[in-house]
Amino acid sequence: MNPIPEPSVIVMIGASGSGKSTLARTWPADYRLGLDSYRWAVSGDAGDQEATADAVFLLDAILERRLARGLTCVVDATNARADVRKRLIEAAHARQLPAAAVVMTAPLRQCLARNARRPANRRVPDSEVRRQYRQISLARPGLHAEGFDHVVTDDRLMRMRLLLQRSVDRVHADHQVDGDHTERARRVLACRFFGEDLAETFHWTHLRPGHDPIGALAVGGDEITLAYRTWFPDPMDWGFEAQVPCLGGCSGPAWVPVRTPMDLLAVYDDEFPEDVVRCDRCAAGATTREAV
Ligand SMILES: [Zn+2]
Repeated sequence: MNPIPEPSVIVMIGASGSGKSTLARTWPADYRLGLDSYRWAVSGDAGDQEATADAVFLLDAILERRLARGLTCVVDATNARADVRKRLIEAAHARQLPAAAVVMTAPLRQCLARNARRPANRRVPDSEVRRQYRQISLARPGLHAEGFDHVVTDDRLMRMRLLLQRSVDRVHADHQVDGDHTERARRVLACRFFGEDLAETFHWTHLRPGHDPIGALAVGGDEITLAYRTWFPDPMDWGFEAQVPCLGGCSGPAWVPVRTPMDLLAVYDDEFPEDVVRCDRCAAGATTREAV
C-alpha cells in the first residue's frame, strides 16, 4: 500500500526530531534531497546554519534537474514555512508532476527528546523545535489548499517492506560476486574489519593452493601486505595478519594480527606491540603455532 504516486515531489513536513530522515531513508538514496547533507557538502558541517542559503541553492538546483528527468524527489527538511512549501509545489507542477505532503505525527515531547539526543552541532534550540511544531500544526489543515495533490501522515505509510526488499537485493548483489575473490574479499574487509575506504585499496597478490591467501592494501606509493588466516580454531577469530619486519633481525616475514584500522595504523607507524609479532622463518616472537 503506497498512497503516494511516483514520480512526484514528496515533501516531508515535520519539526526537528520528528523522524523525517529515518522515514526518508526508506526511499532510494538518490531520491533524498536533504538540507543537512548539502550544508555538509558546502561547509563540512551538517549543522552549520550559516550554510543554509547555499544548501537551499543546491537543493533547488538538484530538485529541478531531477524533475526535468521525471525522477521522484523526497525533500527531507523541516518545510515548516508556507513559502518554502509553495516553491516545492510549484517546482513539481511546472513539470506536470504531483506534489505530496508527508506530515510527521510524532508528538512535541518526542521531537524534543530526539533533538536533545543529537550531537551538539545538529541540535536546534528547544524554542525553535516548539516554534516549528506550532507552525506545522497550524498549517496542516490547509495543505490541500496550498496546492498539495496528496496529503498523508507518516503513520499511514507502510514502507518497511520496501526497506527490507532493498536490503535483500543488496545481499543478493553481494552474493553474485562470489566468483570474484578480490571483490568478495573487499566486501568482507569493509564489513568486518577496516571500512569501505580501506577495503577499496585491497587486492589479492598470491593465491596458491595449500597456502594462506596473501593480499595487499595499496594506494599511491604505500602498501601493507596482508595474509588471511583461517587456521585459528574459532572461525570468529579468522582474519588478517599484516606483514612486518622480523624483530629477531632475520629476513623472513613476520606477522601481526590486524583487526581494525587502528591496528593498521600501528603497523604503518611501526608502533605495534612487540609481543604479538610472529616470525615465519626464525620463530622469533609470540608464536603459539607452527607457521604455514
Ligand atoms: Zn625472523
